[in-house]
Amino acid sequence: MQRAKRVLVTGGAGFLGSFLCERLLGEGHEVVCVDNFFTGSRRNVSHLLDDKSFEIIRHDVTFPLYIEVDEIYNLACPASPVHYQFDPVQTTKTSVHGAINMLGLAKRVRAKILQASTSEVYGDPEVHPQTEDYWGRVNPIGLRSCYDEGKRCAETLFFDYWRQHRLRIKVARIFNTYGPRMRPDDGRVISNFIVQALQNQPITVYGNGQQTRSFCYVNDLIDGLVRLMHTGDDVTGPINLGNPVEFTMLELADLVIELTGSRSKIKFLPLPVDDPRQRQPDIGCALRELNWKPRIALRDGLAKTIAYFDDLISSGHAGSAAAE
Ligand code: NAD
Ligand code: UDP
Repeated sequence: MQRAKRVLVTGGAGFLGSFLCERLLGEGHEVVCVDNFFTGSRRNVSHLLDDKSFEIIRHDVTFPLYIEVDEIYNLACPASPVHYQFDPVQTTKTSVHGAINMLGLAKRVRAKILQASTSEVYGDPEVHPQTEDYWGRVNPIGLRSCYDEGKRCAETLFFDYWRQHRLRIKVARIFNTYGPRMRPDDGRVISNFIVQALQNQPITVYGNGQQTRSFCYVNDLIDGLVRLMHTGDDVTGPINLGNPVEFTMLELADLVIELTGSRSKIKFLPLPVDDPRQRQPDIGCALRELNWKPRIALRDGLAKTIAYFDDLISSGHAGSAAAE
């Protein structure tokens, strides 16, 4: 049994962050959730607010934070293309200034720090599946660059703090993750398809739908993050975390239609600029270093996610789910 720690989760009121806070509280830790509520909401953590070990602070990580903690999970950053492209300068600042501020905090209090990096560091990859030693193929000046390059720079900062200040760092490269508490207006493919299917509206497939992604259920992903944080100081990552089973977007659309019993038809829309054609994690490293692999198949994870959105829509909260 681990000693109870004081753990900071930035972006803790977001989709992944809220599940992480819940998991850490369940393990007996004190959790400080820091969020500016750009894409996150109090609703995501409302079930934790009565827990004496849980604290929530409205704060933007682009500004310094003074607090005493043992561990930091740095998740603050909008993850959906729709949201990170809304204010691209703020997105880069969140990744870069946010990393500098959280690394500075970790250095001051000698905390262990984990960065929620992303498969987007591989860009539109030519190596498939993606291994951690692949440097990626990223457009530095495109619409996705604020996110991709911001996250790449954050990784650089993490490794420089490790080399220069011997900070205990952990870098997770997270691949597409889904589950309950995604916003109905999130814009990512799984929430879009489910919300459309449940309302018998057209399923918006971008491009010809032959592009691929590999989808990890949220609980699997959170388990990987926690295992990574618990590794010895010699394990820094970067480590890919994701489900290696790959699907085309057309296959995903068909599966969502089948599982919802929807009457929706597919509607093809233009492919967004720089949309990666394929993505699949090589998780050999996670298996070796963390003894981790995802356990929840897409079909099962989708069923849980569909049930969540079904409740949200029937209770009339779909429109305001994102509201604080
Ligand atoms: P999310 O948008 O639900 O959560 C991000 C949270 O960060 C939100 O609560 C938001 O309000 C908060 N935030 C944004 N800017 C902030 C700022 N400047 N200061 C403080 N808080 C801020 O997204 P998510 O899917 O939960 O992603 C969490 C993290 O995981 C992100 O860093 C994202 O890049 C990374 N990630 C997620 C995925 C995925 O598929 N979900 C994939 C790769 C990487
Ligand atoms: N996509 C789609 N329809 C949608 C939303 C997304 O076909 O309504 C596609 C998108 O073009 C991309 C894939 O689904 O090829 C995954 O998109 P998402 O935004 O979820 O994640 P990312 O592109 O960041 O991996």
